[in-house]
Amino acid sequence: MNEYRQRSESMRADLVSMRRKIHENPELGFQEFETAAFIKAELDKLGISYRSEIARTGIIATIEGSRPGKTLLIRADMDALPMIEDADLEFKSKNHGVFHACGHDTHVTCLLGTAKILMENRDKFGGTVLLVFQPAEEGSKEYDPTGKIAGGALPMVMEAGDVLNPDNLDGVLALHIVSGEDDHEHVGKIGVGDGPFSGSADEIFVDIIVKGGHASSPHSAVDPVYIASQVSVALQGWLTRFVDPMEPVVVTFGKIQGGFRQNIISEKCRMEGTLRTLNEELRNKIKEKMPGFIKGIAQAYGGDAEVTILTGYPVGVNDKEMNEHVRKVTAQMYGTDSLVEVPAQLGAEDFYEFGFKNKVPITMFWLGGANVEKGWVGSNHSNYFAIDEDSLPIGTAVLSAAAISFLS
Ligand SMILES: [Zn+2]
Ligand SMILES: [Zn+2]
Repeated sequence: MNEYRQRSESMRADLVSMRRKIHENPELGFQEFETAAFIKAELDKLGISYRSEIARTGIIATIEGSRPGKTLLIRADMDALPMIEDADLEFKSKNHGVFHACGHDTHVTCLLGTAKILMENRDKFGGTVLLVFQPAEEGSKEYDPTGKIAGGALPMVMEAGDVLNPDNLDGVLALHIVSGEDDHEHVGKIGVGDGPFSGSADEIFVDIIVKGGHASSPHSAVDPVYIASQVSVALQGWLTRFVDPMEPVVVTFGKIQGGFRQNIISEKCRMEGTLRTLNEELRNKIKEKMPGFIKGIAQAYGGDAEVTILTGYPVGVNDKEMNEHVRKVTAQMYGTDSLVEVPAQLGAEDFYEFGFKNKVPITMFWLGGANVEKGWVGSNHSNYFAIDEDSLPIGTAVLSAAAISFLS
């Protein structure tokens, strides 16, 4: 396996230049036109065939091994976030207000590096590798054929036809760069976790609808702002009584908006929140019961509520055997000290749509990107997110070697 580490390291300058090019030219979800053009040009250089414009900007490229075998999908997401980059880098975003703050530039780079290594080593594996470059992981309302919260994975599955049929897939793999102050977030570390790994994410919209009035006469009106505050508090209590205490659940209302001015009781208050779980069954149970609970509170105060819950990304569950390939090749190339076993968290990833509700073994691992000595510890989605580019050859080597290990 060390040959893949050495090959990745010899490609370092190319990887850095690709990453900087993508980093300087970030694009939002379903608008990754330049990024997709860049990827296609790189695939052309490598002589790799592909289909493009799947879910607008998505690409699926195919590499065949030297003999028949299994099919492995490796995915990279391409989109950036609507944020301003504050870290002062020479290759800072040229598209002001758009920033690769989740490191998807790294993912594209590592997958292109992997494509190169796989092309050079087709005699080492059998079967097929599908390289999937996916739009809009961060979600976008630009394009939504699903009627759900729009990320790019599900539309790609819907539009790709039989290539992304679960019956034609044997495994699915991806990495995600992470930065921050935790041990597994440091450059040189690979974070792996079996079983539940990332949360489901649904969006909750509540409209409290009442008869408004004068602020001095609450008894002649119904106060939707007061009801919203009751709903906000009561829901947290309800969850502790309704849900098995051994199950992680989060409901956060990130936005509550109601009223006009200090002396008016308005007719409406809107709440927008997110529901996260690590258990599909529990997720469905909460989605079924929560609207009734919220309506009950609103009605107890003489108002009413309309509750809409939009279904978002699924619970991400990592396959133990797929992880074993990642652990094995990481230990062989970088030593066991580089491996960190990481717990689940409630951030969400639409990557797991490619696992078709765990019909296909799927895994995502963390690629450490922080460097404490250099002060690069801005976490993903922060305006100071920055990574140590030593992570690029590491990600490339682990992805390539894990793929070859799985297919041989
Ligand atoms: Zn993100
Ligand atoms: Zn991300």
